[in-house]
Amino acid sequence: MSVALEPLPFPPFRELSNEELNQRIVTAKQRLGKSLLVLGHHYQQDEVIQHADLNGDSYQLSKLAAESADCRSIVFCGVHFMAETADILANRPEKLAVRNGERVGVVLPDMAAGCSMADMAAIRQVESAWRQLGEVIDTDEITPVTYINSAASLKAFCGRHGGIVCTSSNARAVLEWSFAQRKRVFFFPDQHLGRNTSLKMGITNEHMPIWNPHEEEHGGNTQQAIEDSRVILWKGHCSVHQMFQADHVHTFRKKYPGIQILVHPECPQEVNDIADISGSTSKIIETVRKAPAGTKWAIGTELHLVNRLKKEHPEQEIHFLSPLVCMCATMYRIDLAHLCWSLENLVQGTIVNQIVVNDEIATWSLVALERMLAVSK
Ligand code: SF4
Repeated sequence: MSVALEPLPFPPFRELSNEELNQRIVTAKQRLGKSLLVLGHHYQQDEVIQHADLNGDSYQLSKLAAESADCRSIVFCGVHFMAETADILANRPEKLAVRNGERVGVVLPDMAAGCSMADMAAIRQVESAWRQLGEVIDTDEITPVTYINSAASLKAFCGRHGGIVCTSSNARAVLEWSFAQRKRVFFFPDQHLGRNTSLKMGITNEHMPIWNPHEEEHGGNTQQAIEDSRVILWKGHCSVHQMFQADHVHTFRKKYPGIQILVHPECPQEVNDIADISGSTSKIIETVRKAPAGTKWAIGTELHLVNRLKKEHPEQEIHFLSPLVCMCATMYRIDLAHLCWSLENLVQGTIVNQIVVNDEIATWSLVALERMLAVSK
């Protein structure tokens, strides 16, 4: 009978030098071989990214990892909701059947790596909002849409209520699908992605009331505003992208004539409206990659990604759009020490910080994710 080993404690890893941590990570990865995939989100710091087997955005990474036939453990160097999505996709019923029920263990190296945006919409708040909306309008007229940057419980809510998940790449296609089903959309948790996408579809702000979950009644809206709504926007935002301002755009344009402003749609409307290009992380990377040498950019997205683009494209002039440091502080919690600690535990057969989404939530989340996949094909 095998005896389960106690997890290795974390504190001693904090005392190790980066050099030693790097060596031990490489050794642990070699021992785990193809059974392990380390996933590195685009916003992750370079010292962690260098150990990633795959880099990408959250959905891309989860999808790629779930497609691997050899993978039995995923260490997600991202944030909590990303690890949940990886668990849902890698352990969906047909995948479990192929592996005779063997589960892929999904690890988040530091459990404190959450997402401030995802945390702005708790399932009990969304359920309460849905009930309150039902007092004013027929909820059968509403398609709930959740951004992938949300807890699995919200994805499941959308699955259960005829709704769908979107990413920043497919938000428009998802909204078009949603309006083909029903008259209105309830969009959470990121108001900016919802608003910026809807504006491009010709929906005006007067038909997009904001639902504030901290207001006692109807999210702080009048009944008339709800009745007139086409898209109800949750009052949530990304603390990183919210920092970019229209003034930053004006300053760069004045100082660097000919510069192009490239931003993420999680930035506020006043920035998106005046940017030259707005698009998902993948679109930002692709746009820079394809641009001719000498192109000048001011980029409004997470700092680590912008710095990496600068290093990878010395032939272009790349600036960070804000004078302030806008980085994803929660993702930054995942460092070499946490990565090394989680990998060495895996080597000894112990899974620490495992993310497991309960079956019911996973089932309904998959329904919403599969609707998104069908729309994006
Ligand atoms: S960048 Fe923003 S949305 Fe993305 S994980 Fe960090 S806080 Fe969440």
